[in-house]
Amino acid sequence: MADGDEAHAPADIATPPGGGSTPDSPVAAASPVAAGSADELGAPAHLSPSSASAFEQCPRRWRFRYVDRLEDPPGLPAVVGTFAHLVLEHLLNEPAKGRTVDRARALAASAWPEFTETTEFGGLGLEADGVKAFKWRVWRAVEGLWQLEDPAAVEVHGTEQRVTVELGGVPFVGVVDRVDVTTEGLVVTDYKSGQPPSAAYVAPRLQQVLLYAAAVRAMTGQRPVRARLLYLIGPRTIEVEATDEATEAAVGRLVVTWGEVERRLAGAQFEARPGVLCAWCPFLDRCPEGRRDLEARVADGWRPVGAPGLRIVA
Ligand code: SF4
Repeated sequence: MADGDEAHAPADIATPPGGGSTPDSPVAAASPVAAGSADELGAPAHLSPSSASAFEQCPRRWRFRYVDRLEDPPGLPAVVGTFAHLVLEHLLNEPAKGRTVDRARALAASAWPEFTETTEFGGLGLEADGVKAFKWRVWRAVEGLWQLEDPAAVEVHGTEQRVTVELGGVPFVGVVDRVDVTTEGLVVTDYKSGQPPSAAYVAPRLQQVLLYAAAVRAMTGQRPVRARLLYLIGPRTIEVEATDEATEAAVGRLVVTWGEVERRLAGAQFEARPGVLCAWCPFLDRCPEGRRDLEARVADGWRPVGAPGLRIVA
């Protein structure tokens, strides 16, 4: 998945205070109704990087997914990311010298049968050609790691570590793909299997790993020195010094988002924020604003390849 924080069962980095919630269920007492008071909607239990990002992109979609809990199945890129993350998690848990390309291939082969039984993979409904393309895409991502670093030289502190903590008063959860030990200190790493962002989107993408750095610090008492995004397909490393200033700015933005979430819940109003992503939104048929926006784009000749929304407005 675009985000590794919600991919699969992680290990706790420390005992979560009052844990038990999952990143996929940020609303404690969600209501199935489409509108209602704050009490009916319930208060959100926490934000994860992906739920915060989803809210910032479109509050209406956030509500459909996290309050009404309507189905929002992961698309192909997210499922590719899930399997690539799984292979890399197993690989980095191997003894350092054993972290070879051949070992990664063997780990992928052994994990594959069980992975094909998951609803996430099954939901893609791939035919034989699609499965073949899926495997190649995963493998391209896994092999990309060796172009970014030598995994045999990494000293792993932990992989797939759950963080559950309050940041700036906001209950925050997430799953950190990897924390490394370096001579300078801890380094937080998140794998990405999508394309690297353009310059304008680098800062928003770093928000996630800076929040993880803040969470690791809050839970362990050790401040990571750096936070990294490894774009396995590209490939490209994007990193930032996890200074107090950088992490505080990321936490500040989380606080603002949390306040916006609470404000929408209090008013039971979640405005639509139409844009190109409406073409891939699973709730397009419930959202007149998004539908109108997509119809206008299509009327102007826009035809995003493979976008499911085209079937609705066609
Ligand atoms: S269709 Fe567009 S505007 Fe409507 S909920 Fe989905 S993303 Fe938001």
